[in-house]
Amino acid sequence: MQVNKVSVIGAGTMGNGIAHVFAQSGYNVTLIDVNPEQLDKATATIDKNLARMVKKEKISESDKEATMSRISTATDIGSGAKDADLVVEAVNEQFDLKKKIFQQLDEVTSDDTILASNTSSISITKIAAVTSRPEKVIGMHFFNPVPVMKLVEVVNGLDTAKEVTEQITKLSENLGKSPVPVNDYPGFVSNRVLMPMINEAIFSVYEGVAEPEHVDEVMKLGMAHPMGPLRLADFIGLDVCLDIMRVLHEGFGDPRYRPCPLLIKMVDASKLGDKTGEGFYKY
Ligand code: NAD
Repeated sequence: MQVNKVSVIGAGTMGNGIAHVFAQSGYNVTLIDVNPEQLDKATATIDKNLARMVKKEKISESDKEATMSRISTATDIGSGAKDADLVVEAVNEQFDLKKKIFQQLDEVTSDDTILASNTSSISITKIAAVTSRPEKVIGMHFFNPVPVMKLVEVVNGLDTAKEVTEQITKLSENLGKSPVPVNDYPGFVSNRVLMPMINEAIFSVYEGVAEPEHVDEVMKLGMAHPMGPLRLADFIGLDVCLDIMRVLHEGFGDPRYRPCPLLIKMVDASKLGDKTGEGFYKY
């Protein structure tokens, strides 16, 4: 099926970026969030990011206006997703929430609609199993900030159809992205490698090995990382990091994925990083 209309569910950090890249590539997008304030914030962010591109002469003012005109918003999945050819879900990293949304999507969308999740770590196979169309459920894992980062991890669930993988791969290329195929195991490749490193960096602070800025300095200067792991953790969101560590811990049943108590404590204190103004650093 040809994809023309896309619905993006969740207008947070990732949802606004995903809506931005689809709309900029000519797709009509409905951005859906339960929280109307998030929708206002997301459209303002997209507008601001496009304005920056106009200023840098990467796009014209009329490209910006055309992109914005292709984005509409909704607070309800029933009305916002019923005509979609493709849905990309980007709500919080909690299985029970995603389960409810995929069950609802399975009811309201056409049988042909592809249902993708931007999950960082939750099993695509497990999400697919709550629908009646597991062959049409796939992971489309974008990276933050979505308009800038090239990678899309295309995650195949156990039953994802080959044609669906091919279509999503091609579509990711149409968005100007570089899709990489991976299979469905906890954390896929990206977060299976990245999150234990971030968690270990947090343990280094917790055990008094070094201050956050010194941990980051070691990784930047010694390992040529463009951003230290703790600065990156703040950027991703410490709540998101904790959710992913819990998925790895549960999924592999291996104590080496135990989330650092300091990470748990910071999330309890709502020190979530950039989005709350404080994490390992102050913003
Ligand atoms: P976020 O907290 O910034 O945004 C989540 C949004 O979902 C919020 O706006 C919330 O109001 C909305 N929401 C919650 N319940 C909803 C519902 N029932 N219907 C509609 N909207 C609902 O989270 P985020 O950082 O954008 O992460 C979203 C997803 O993307 C997660 O699965 C996360 O693991 C994944 N992800 C995050 C990053 C990152 O760097 N933050 C990177 C890649 C993937």
